[in-house]
Order: sequence, then structure tokens, then C-alpha cells
Amino acid sequence: MFNSPIETENQEVHLSILKDKNIRLFVKREDTIHPFVSGNKFRKLKYNIQEAQQLKQDTILTFGGAYSNHIVAVAVAGKMAGLKTIGIIRGEELAKEFDKTIATNATLREAHKNGMKFLFVTREAYRNKTTSSFVTSLELKFGDFYLIPEGGTNELAVKGCEEILTKDDAKFDHICVAVGTGGTISGLINAATNTQKVLGFPALKGDFLSKEIKPFVKGKENWKLIPAYHFGGYAKSNSDLIAFINQFKEETNIQLDPIYTGKMMFGIVDLIKKNYFSENSTILAIHTGGIQGIEGFNERLAKKNKKLITV
Ligand SMILES: *Cc1c(COP(=O)(O)O)cnc(C)c1O
Repeated sequence: MFNSPIETENQEVHLSILKDKNIRLFVKREDTIHPFVSGNKFRKLKYNIQEAQQLKQDTILTFGGAYSNHIVAVAVAGKMAGLKTIGIIRGEELAKEFDKTIATNATLREAHKNGMKFLFVTREAYRNKTTSSFVTSLELKFGDFYLIPEGGTNELAVKGCEEILTKDDAKFDHICVAVGTGGTISGLINAATNTQKVLGFPALKGDFLSKEIKPFVKGKENWKLIPAYHFGGYAKSNSDLIAFINQFKEETNIQLDPIYTGKMMFGIVDLIKKNYFSENSTILAIHTGGIQGIEGFNERLAKKNKKLITV
């Protein structure tokens, strides 16, 4: 899986708003690559796994929250590649009743099933995870490992994400993608032509992302972040977003996730309504996956007596 090129389908979607505005919208179905190593996480891991193998490392260590798409992707991909995996997870309380954690958290359960070893740390320790003293303490505890940062973004991840677009995709005017740490959009920016525009929809609050992206895209100016659709921050949502995801599924049969792709698509449709795109525009939206996170998200919605995402 990590050694052969993968191309996914561009599926055209038909919403009444698109006809009204004379715009064509396609979804690149990166979510179909694998149920757990989904979409961009496969792209980001491909060259990192090859690098770990070349360096003769037998263990990958990485970081994430309890519902992280990246954590489960590393666990499953690592197992496929014959590598051991260690996940440093935010929230030491999860360790206290580990059996219950595994029973109630589908993300960690899948990672555990694939052999990932966990270290649950306090929020404070987690904040300091990039300091050399913390990394040294991990080396003392676990021995040698190949480190992949939280969210998986590094040069090799960007290189993998440059393979999302095909030559044929140069025909689209706009390429849209959800943004977390900025690795995926960086690859798209590098692979897109200078006359295409890559639009990023940050899934979290804050204005630090441009600064993260710039070093990976070497002066390219064919991109823009649209920060209006984070819905209050990372993993935050409201009933409009959930209703949108459910309606989009009904109309297109494409499942979106509430953390990334749902917010991106909500933003695209809202911008279309507001005439952001000119008539005859063609838009390619990247479905980066994340479907595995819906189960845990629905459990949290259910606890608050909120409407659930239909699956
Ligand atoms: C991780 C993730 C992203 C964000 O990717 P970055 O490279 O961190 O910007 C987007 N969509 C989904 C579904 C993800 O899991």
C-alpha cells in the first residue's frame, strides 16, 4: 500500500445551488483510500514510513488527542508496514480506567487493536511535547524511535500530499481543503498550477497557520486561508453544521466528518451562496477522510442531548 501510487476518483455533486449559480463542484474521494488510514493521513505517512524503514527504525512514536485521526492512522499504517507504534495521548485520566477507555473510545480501541502502545500524559506535559527534555525522557523510556509530530506534518508529509492532485486536476479553478496543521494544504499548493487557487478552511481558531504553511510552499502565492468556518474552534460544532452534514449526505450520499470536511463543505456552499465564486467556476474539494471520528463525536453529542450525525 505504501509503495504504489494511489489515485482517487473525482465525484461530481449535484446540489440545486450549483445549478442556480452555474458552478460545478467535484469531491476528490481520498476518504475511500482506507477506513482508518484515511485520506490525507495515508498521504502524510507514506514517505515517513519509507524513511523509518530506510533508517532501520522498528518503532514510530507520535502524539495526539483521544479521538485523533492521525493516531489511529499511525497505528494501522504502522502495523501494515511491520513497525511498532507508540502514541503519546493527551489526558492522563484516560489511563486510570484503561479498560473503560478502550471500551468507550472507538479511536483508541482501533489503535490498541493494531498494537499501538499508549502513554497518557497530562495536558501540561502534552503542551511541552516538543521540548528536547520531554523527547529525551521518551527515549529513556522507549528506546530509539522515528518521531512523527502531532498531526503528522513535516517535509515528507508535504511530499506525500503533493501526490493528491493528478495532472488532469489542473483544469479546476479552485481546490478546497480543510486545514489542521497545514501539511495537506502545503502539498496541494506545491502541486497546483499558479493559475489555480487553493482555498484552505481552518478547522481551528487562530492566525498562526499561514506562518506554518509558508516554509513548506517556497514563495507560492496561489493560495488563501478562509478562517470564517471553524465553528468556534477545533472539534467544536453547532446544530447548523450537523444539519448541513446530514443534508449533504442525503443529497450526495457522501459522508462528511464534523471536525474537518464538514466545516470545509459548509464553507464552500456558503461562499457559493454569497457569490464568492464567479459563474462557470469549477471547484475540486478534497475529501480528506476522518470518518472514523464520527462515532466518538456522536457519543459526545448524545451526552449533550444534541442531534446526531447520521451514518
Ligand atoms: C488531519 C486531517 C486534516 C488536516 O490536515 P493537516 O495536514 O493537518 O492540515 C484534514 N482533514 C482530515 C479528515 C484530517 O484527519
